[in-house]
Amino acid sequence: MPDIGFVNGRFLPLEEATVSVEDRGFQFGDGVYEVIRTYHGRPFHLDAHLARLERSAKAIELPLPWNIQQWTAHVHEGIKRGGYAESKVYLQLTRGAAPRDHSFPASTKPTAVMTVREMRPMDPALQASGVTVMTMDDWRWGRCDIKSVNLLPNVMARQKAKTEGANEALFVRGGRVTEGSSSNVFGVIKGRICTTPTGPGILPGVTRVLVLRIAKSSGLSVSETELPLRRLISADEVFLSGTTVEVLPVVRIDGRRIGNGKPGRITRSIAESFRLMAGG
Ligand code: PLP
Repeated sequence: MPDIGFVNGRFLPLEEATVSVEDRGFQFGDGVYEVIRTYHGRPFHLDAHLARLERSAKAIELPLPWNIQQWTAHVHEGIKRGGYAESKVYLQLTRGAAPRDHSFPASTKPTAVMTVREMRPMDPALQASGVTVMTMDDWRWGRCDIKSVNLLPNVMARQKAKTEGANEALFVRGGRVTEGSSSNVFGVIKGRICTTPTGPGILPGVTRVLVLRIAKSSGLSVSETELPLRRLISADEVFLSGTTVEVLPVVRIDGRRIGNGKPGRITRSIAESFRLMAGG
């Protein structure tokens, strides 16, 4: 089955999908993106992802080439063409190709790209054992709520984590944990689900919202307040949330054991509710 490419409304095999070397996404990182996955072949919370794409694009004054219904149709068509049991859809929208100049081109013709690849589920062994994470200085820009393609700090952080044998890097700004390089972070502290509040410092994760919804409907109390690193390290349980990691227990931060070093009861229960919600 060929991986699917899509450029400005045209589907084609991924290896034939190209954009100009003058594309502003390539030259300036002047663009936004989304990652969506399917469960049982259906895109999961596509509306929320498209709403965030719309918000990100608006925040960088980038006009959307299509309305939500049209994006939705393109995503469904891409998934159908891929024909995979489960798909991972990547959408990217940039300010298009223009002679290189920092300010916006006089007339913007955005570049819209989509790829559809097979989605391989996370290793269940990793879910069962939990993962280790390391912390990194959060030297990203001040608008991490925009899902911008400028991912250099995230790339550097994840590579450092990988080199040091950790699964994810947690960003820390002013002694407070913001989020992971591609995930949001939660602590379970005295039975309460704690996570960094939304704002310019973190990406408002689609999965984060679902976790908070599950926690509330399970009768757990929830606190969206700043998370000092020392508080997170001494939490009873820690977990990550994200489209690809779902709900993933963390058992060590910077080599220090969380709780008893095993995925906690509340984390496992939220992960299980999430799997049921996703239909898995
Ligand atoms: N935070 C960052 C920096 C991310 O890149 C991501 C996802 O890629 C998330 C959080 C989780 O967001 P979502 O749950 O929408 O996948």
